[in-house]
Amino acid sequence: MTRAYNFNAGPAGLPLPALERAQRELLDFEGTGMSIMEHSHRGKAYERVHNEAIQLLRELLGVPDTHHVLFLQGGASLQFAMVPMNLVPAGKSADYILTGGWSEKAYEEAGRVAKVRIAASTAVEKKYVRIPRQNELALDPDASYVHLTSNNTLFGTQWHRFPDVGQVPLVADMSSDFLWRKFDVTRFALIYAGAQKNIGPSGVTVVLVKKDLVDAARKDIPTILRYGTHAANNSLYNTPPTFGIYLMRNVLSYTKEIGGLEEIERRNRKKAEVLYGALDARPEFFRAPVEKESRSTMNVVFRLPTEELEKKFLAEATERRMVGLAGHRSTGGIRVSAYNAVGLEAVEVLVSFMDEFAKRG
Ligand code: PMP
Repeated sequence: MTRAYNFNAGPAGLPLPALERAQRELLDFEGTGMSIMEHSHRGKAYERVHNEAIQLLRELLGVPDTHHVLFLQGGASLQFAMVPMNLVPAGKSADYILTGGWSEKAYEEAGRVAKVRIAASTAVEKKYVRIPRQNELALDPDASYVHLTSNNTLFGTQWHRFPDVGQVPLVADMSSDFLWRKFDVTRFALIYAGAQKNIGPSGVTVVLVKKDLVDAARKDIPTILRYGTHAANNSLYNTPPTFGIYLMRNVLSYTKEIGGLEEIERRNRKKAEVLYGALDARPEFFRAPVEKESRSTMNVVFRLPTEELEKKFLAEATERRMVGLAGHRSTGGIRVSAYNAVGLEAVEVLVSFMDEFAKRG
């Protein structure tokens, strides 16, 4: 078997041991004579997996009892609508900080169901190369919440220090950097993340939400769109994506085995150091547009001198089993997504190819 060096932006690579465990358990899950996919979501076998995934997430990240851990469907995109539907009562509005294409989408979608304001934007001619500074935020102290995108998958920027938003609840889309390291969950009223980058396959969205916020949320919206519904039913209100949650359990369990999020952070920082080091060593060839303090540890974007060279670079990389390196269709260029499951070895193979390619010119 020859596995690819997978730099996909999402769905992305998964840790091999988590996949191998799924392979071992696929046909006969724990002696039950069937796969976990074939079990009832109300049965004991699945329930154990479901609760273990929740427990592992709580343990790895230190999620306090003040917050629910929910597993929902509909991707981060459904959260763009669910957050304002639940959290903005009539007559109030929500603040959005725009740092890229996904925060623009979150803002636009919220605008369909609630009053919204832009509290800051770092767009210059539709491009974003940095995270705003604290003194650039024009926050409404009466806002129902402030929304930010912790890592901007398209533009390769990331919040390294979360802003001070006073007493206003902070909401974050962490789809592309959730679990890249440990952080203080208590600073957030609500966090959502599609699983398909750092923690599992697509189809599961993790939501961490403060219990008091759920209690105070709007009740005049469809049952399935209320956080309260999912919280009251331990994310088993309707049939959950059982296989996705099972695989996430495998990823989380493996994460714990290798030393938890401290070890994951150490690895991620090392990979980012190696990648940005390679770009900075040859500024005449690689153009890294993102301001240094805003550089993402997850998505490293850069340009080569011409689009022809970029095409050649991608074609040669593919020949060497390195896949997923094309920038997003809206931005072009090269994007290296180095999520949790991407090993340092893959990054080193890529960097030595980058070096060789640049030398050839
Ligand atoms: N937010 C961010 C930061 C993302 O990277 C993505 C997906 N690439 C989304 C939201 C949308 O996620 P989904 O496709 O799961 O709805």
